Amino acid sequence: METEIVKIKDKEFKPYLTPAQINDIIEDLARRINRDYAGKNPLLVAILNGAFIFAADLVKKLSFPCRISLIKVSSYAGTESTQNVCELIGLQESIKDEDVIIIEDIVDTGVTMSHLLERLRKDQPRSLAICSLLFKPEKFTKDYTIDYIGKSIPNEFVVGYGFDYDGYGRNLPGIYQLKD
Ligand code: 5GP
Ligand code: MG
Repeated sequence: METEIVKIKDKEFKPYLTPAQINDIIEDLARRINRDYAGKNPLLVAILNGAFIFAADLVKKLSFPCRISLIKVSSYAGTESTQNVCELIGLQESIKDEDVIIIEDIVDTGVTMSHLLERLRKDQPRSLAICSLLFKPEKFTKDYTIDYIGKSIPNEFVVGYGFDYDGYGRNLPGIYQLKD
């Protein structure tokens, strides 16, 4: 295990997952997805910015024909306070009657993903599954199923491998955890 501490702006981070450990996690996810989607042609919808490295590494391990769309999600409370608006930026493909797999970097409280699910369901995909590299079960407040979880982690802030702190740290090949 690497021992070096990484400093980003005012914070220090300690090594948490090495590139080799991340690769093993993704191999395992790919094995499960390849088994479940054999003979299908799902549309992968990866959520920018955080999931860009994860999505790139995951798709290389998938063995069925698939398309990948990289999208951004902007979520905000609508004019009526109970209503949430979720806008999809960059989704060119129609997802109607498609088997859709959402590729996300991390599910924390689950609020972002619940808005996205609600929005995507309106377009009537044949099926809709979630694949998240990391999951923080202690923070999760929702009741939907996350079909593919790479690794459940404690409630600590992580950076690296696509995860940022204030825009920085995404390029680190490993994943680091905030040092207490
Ligand atoms: P949620 O809506 O599930 O609470 O939040 C999900 C989003 O919060 C993620 O897509 C990610 O952008 C951000 N997030 C949650 N936990 C972390 C973390 O530990 N590190 C980083 N860099 N972002 C996080
Ligand atoms: Mg995200």
